Amino acid sequence: MNRSSKVRLFVGAMFLVGVFAAYTYQATPPPVLTIEKVYDDLYMIVGDGGNVAVYITSEGVILVDDKYDQDHAQIMARIRSVTNQPVKYILSTHYHADHSGGNTQFANETEIISTRNAHDGIVKHLQSNAPNNMVPARVTFTDECSIFLGGKEVRSKFYGRAHTNGDAFVYFPAHRLLHSGDNFSSNPAATPLIDYPGGGSVVEWTKTLDNVMNSLDFDEVMPGHGAMSNKVGMKAYRDRVEVLRSKAQALVRAGKSQEDLAKLMETDYKWAPGSMFQKWAVPGMMTELK
Ligand SMILES: [Zn+2]
Repeated sequence: MNRSSKVRLFVGAMFLVGVFAAYTYQATPPPVLTIEKVYDDLYMIVGDGGNVAVYITSEGVILVDDKYDQDHAQIMARIRSVTNQPVKYILSTHYHADHSGGNTQFANETEIISTRNAHDGIVKHLQSNAPNNMVPARVTFTDECSIFLGGKEVRSKFYGRAHTNGDAFVYFPAHRLLHSGDNFSSNPAATPLIDYPGGGSVVEWTKTLDNVMNSLDFDEVMPGHGAMSNKVGMKAYRDRVEVLRSKAQALVRAGKSQEDLAKLMETDYKWAPGSMFQKWAVPGMMTELK
């Protein structure tokens, strides 16, 4: 077979593969998102990824987080069902793709603001299973940042390491309401996902939550995942993190192996073998809890 017929054969074969793929591939549509009213000017968009806060002002909308890339059209549709104001700012709680993946779409039209470490987490691609096209915030801060829009304030602040080393808690003073990112989940069975590659820490986690609860005047909490909750729910979660850490630390200090710790987390906390929980946290816990 001469070279040109080989090329033709190859091109023909690739065409057939393409036709077959186009015939059999059906894109799975992203899960349906819903919008829930918390206050007249504050909503929560739930489903597929982290909870998005939608704060409406007379000069535009401020979001907290933007879910995955694939959720952009639905997020905009849900916002449009409650306001015609443009989305002016997004305050990111942290760098994970289920909270900041939507940056790829929003970055063209909206100013995105995160901690410096959340920005760097995206740039360094610290989340191993995140898509390659993630876009970091253009504006960053290390301690605290406020947005003043339409006579309202939203405050984003770093209180210390917990889920990652760049988690922001976002506070709405007018409602005494806090978006906690993934430093708290209202699901009663939830356990902390400690992202050691992203700078997380189970030792600092409880201190960070104590810091937040001692220094901020809030009652309601919009968690990173799960239904609306409050300070009492956050305190209960904080105490569960402490129990988990104590159990793990007792085992590590008794000289047990990483396999033993993995087994404990599997039996007592349903951390499935090979899960993100196990992969991200267990090696780091072995080092940190010595
Ligand atoms: Zn996360």
